[in-house]
Amino acid sequence: MDASDMGADLEKVLVTADQISQRLAELAAQVDEDYAGKDVLLVGVLKGAALVMSDLVRALHLPAQMDWMAVSSYGSGTKSSGVVRIVKDLDTDVTGRHVLIVEDIIDSGLTLSWLVANLSSRGAASVEILTLLRKPDAAKVDVAVRYTGFDIPDEFVVGYGLDFAEHYRGLRFVGTLAPHVYETPHPTGASSTTEASTTE
Ligand code: 5GP
Ligand code: MG
Ligand code: MG
Repeated sequence: MDASDMGADLEKVLVTADQISQRLAELAAQVDEDYAGKDVLLVGVLKGAALVMSDLVRALHLPAQMDWMAVSSYGSGTKSSGVVRIVKDLDTDVTGRHVLIVEDIIDSGLTLSWLVANLSSRGAASVEILTLLRKPDAAKVDVAVRYTGFDIPDEFVVGYGLDFAEHYRGLRFVGTLAPHVYETPHPTGASSTTEASTTE
């Protein structure tokens, strides 16, 4: 999907497709350097991280492996509470592995701090985080993000994996939605972000 496919739903573009691919190439070069000689396991958090993962893994020179988790965060509104449930677990035994969690966005940081603790408790040799986007609130929690793509304002964003009621994940860029998208019932009847439990 491109900006022209968005019609009147789009308010503004925050990060362009070119900026994303350029930044991911830079982050991939850092990962290549940091993990040289190591066997890295990339853990993508479904569904939002699918696009970051697919572009990152192709930008890497390291022979990285991929696995996926799906988690659901319980919270009110668009904020997560830190109560996380595993919807789909890894297929891989992470004991002794160098794990790099690949995420779309870190907001409160609650989901990621839970995930780091969970994977560490399974005996991973190391657990680090790569996220495409980071919001200001993420700075308030004690979760060390090793690789960050872009710091963005505290606005609800969609695109490049990120959804609103499961829409807009296929956009090549990251942007904000026009208010009318939130204010009117969704055409598909899908639930909005105010649901109590959301998968990532
Ligand atoms: P956190 O636990 O850091 O508050 O956020 C966890 C998840 O909430 C993210 O992985 C993402 O799925 C979702 N999220 C947070 N901010 C946004 C946003 O601006 N847009 C969308 N679409 N999802 C978000
Ligand atoms: Mg979502
Ligand atoms: Mg996510």
